[in-house]
Amino acid sequence: MGVKCIIDNIPYTEKPNKEEIRKIINRMTIDKAKEYEISEIIEYILKGHTIRPSVCDKKENTWQSQQMFFIDVDNNDNYISYQEVIELLENLNLKPAFIYTSFNHKKYHHKYRIVFVFDEAIEDFDTAKAIQLYLMDMIGNSFVDKSCKNLNRIYFGGKEIVYQSNNKLKLSDLKEKISKFQSKKSPQTLENTAFEGNEVKSTYNNKYITLLYVPFTQNHKTLAITAIEGHNADYFLQKYNPEKKIFKTKQEFLNYIIKEVNLPELLEIENYKSFNCIFHDDKNPSAGIFRNENDDWIYNCFACNISYNIIGVIERLGNFKTRVDTYDFIKKILNVEITETEFQQKQKAILLETLQALYSDEFIKYCPTTNKNIRTIREYLQQLILIAIDNIYDEEFTDSEGNVVFFTSVRELAKRLGISQYNIEKISQRLVVLTYHELLKKLDDEEIPKRFLETAKKVMNDRNFDNKVNFFAIPSLTVNKYPQIEKQAIKWRNNHYTIKGTSYEMFLRAEGKEVADKLYPQFKTVVDKITGEIKDRTTTKASDKRTEDIIKTINKLIDKKGYATEKEIIKALTKKYGKTTIETQIKRSLPQILEENNLKRVKANKESKERLKIKSKGYPMVIIKDTL
Ligand SMILES: [Zn+2]
Repeated sequence: MGVKCIIDNIPYTEKPNKEEIRKIINRMTIDKAKEYEISEIIEYILKGHTIRPSVCDKKENTWQSQQMFFIDVDNNDNYISYQEVIELLENLNLKPAFIYTSFNHKKYHHKYRIVFVFDEAIEDFDTAKAIQLYLMDMIGNSFVDKSCKNLNRIYFGGKEIVYQSNNKLKLSDLKEKISKFQSKKSPQTLENTAFEGNEVKSTYNNKYITLLYVPFTQNHKTLAITAIEGHNADYFLQKYNPEKKIFKTKQEFLNYIIKEVNLPELLEIENYKSFNCIFHDDKNPSAGIFRNENDDWIYNCFACNISYNIIGVIERLGNFKTRVDTYDFIKKILNVEITETEFQQKQKAILLETLQALYSDEFIKYCPTTNKNIRTIREYLQQLILIAIDNIYDEEFTDSEGNVVFFTSVRELAKRLGISQYNIEKISQRLVVLTYHELLKKLDDEEIPKRFLETAKKVMNDRNFDNKVNFFAIPSLTVNKYPQIEKQAIKWRNNHYTIKGTSYEMFLRAEGKEVADKLYPQFKTVVDKITGEIKDRTTTKASDKRTEDIIKTINKLIDKKGYATEKEIIKALTKKYGKTTIETQIKRSLPQILEENNLKRVKANKESKERLKIKSKGYPMVIIKDTL
C-alpha cells in the first residue's frame, strides 16, 4: 500500500523563487493527492519535485490525513550533521524512511530533510500534530525549521539521498510518547514548555542525554588519562602487557587503532555513553563515546562541539605537537609497529613524486591540455595517490610498466572525497576520464596474482568496505610519459568529449568498440534478454533514433540561422523524448555527430555573435559548420 500525499508536477533544480513558490502552492490542491510507493516519492524528490506530505490544501484547516512526516533541518541556530542525526535516531529507535539533502546543502553546512513514514495513515488532526511536534523535539528544535510544525507545509525536492531504509514506524509504538504533545495549547506555548527548565541555551546537549541515558557525575580524570597527559606509555604496557603487533601498511595500523581499540576501555571511562567531558569543565554530562557507521570509535562532546577518534583524543590529551609524535605514542602504548620493506618505501617515494608532479609547473608546461581537461577532477587522482601511499603491500607486484598496484573501493574513495557513497556512478565516470588520459590504470581481476587478490578481499572485508575491490596503478609522471598523456588530452579535446557525457556509448560512437571496451572492460558484452545469447554491446535502436533526430534538429537550426545551441535541441526534442533522456543522449552522441557531420562546437564571441545574430545574453556554446 502506498503513501497518500501531494506531489507537484514541475521539477526544479534549485530552490524556487517567491513567484514560483506561489504558483507551486496554487497547483498543489488537495484533489491532486495520490498514493505513491516510497521509492517513487524518492524519485520525484531527486528530480526536484515539491511535495506536501499531508492530504491537505493551502490552509492547515483543510487537513484530512497524513502518513508521512518531514522534518526540515536547516541548522540555522545550531548545528547537527546528517551523520549525527542518523546516529541519534538509531539510538532513539526512530528509524526514518529516508533522508535527503536540500538544494542549499553544503558539504560543510548540512541542510537536509528527514522523512518518517508510518504503517498507517493518521486521520486525527491532533494526533498528526502531536507526531510532528514530537519528531521535531526528538531531533532538537534548535536544528529544525520551526515552520515544520505546520501540517500544510510543502517541501522542495533535493539533491541526494544520504540515508534510506524505507522503514515504516509503528503508530501503536508511539502513542504514549506523543501523548504529552497532544495538547489543546497553541503550538507556540507547547514549544516553549518543551524547553522548560533548560538553562543551557543550546538545548540539544541536555535533551539528547536525558532522553537516552541517565545522567551521572563522575570524577573527570582517570589514571589512564593522567598517563596520556604525562606521555607515560609504561602505565599501559604494565596494565595490559600487550603482545607485539606488526602491520604491513599504515592503513592496517590506522584501522586497528581506530576501529579495534576500545576507546572507553583505554581511557577507563565506565559510563561511556554519557559522561562529563574530559576536555572542558563540564557540570552536566555532555560527552559520549560511540561507534559510527564505519565502526570507528568516536569521542563526542556537544558542548565543545568536537568529535575525535583515538588519534584526536590522544593528540589533544598529550598535547602532541606533530601527528608523527601522536602515532609514535600510540604505537608505544599498544606495542604495535609498522614494518615497511624496501619495496614499499621505494613505491611510496615514487607516488609522492607523482603527487608533487601533478601540481607542478612542469606538468602544466608539458601537459597544458591535460591540465585543463582534468581541472575539475584532479582531486580524484590526488586522493587515489594518497590511498595508494597508505596501502602499498609488501607483495612485490607491479603492472607491466612497473607501477605499483594497489586496491581500494569506489566507496572508500567516495568517503575520502566527501561525496555520498550513493554517487558511485559519478565517481566511476571520473575515473574513466583519468584512465582515458593515461593518468590512471584500472586492472582486471584476472591480471592480479591470486594471493594478492585474496589479501585484498580480506582487507576490504575487515574494513567494512564490503563492495567490490578495484585494482589500480598510477603511472609515474616523467618526461617520457608526458607526451603520451598530452596526446590523449588533445584527442579528448578534438573529439569534443565532456566529463558529463563520459559513457561507454560516447566512446563507442566517437572512437569505436576497441577504445570503448578498453575503458569499460566490464561492458564488452551484453546478454540478450530474449535469447540469453552473449553479444557484443552496440548502441540500441532507440538511441540511434534519438541521435538521428538530434542531427536533423541541428541541421534544421543551422539551415535556418547558421547555428544551433544545445538548449534549442533539447527544447525541440523534449516533447518527444523527455528532457533528461534527450539531455543525456546529446552528451553521449555529440562527439560522434560533430565528427561525422563536419560540425564544431565553439563558444560564441563578440564577432560571431554579431555575425550569427545571436540574441541571448553572454557567450553561449554554439554548434556551427566546421568550414576551416
Ligand atoms: Zn567538552
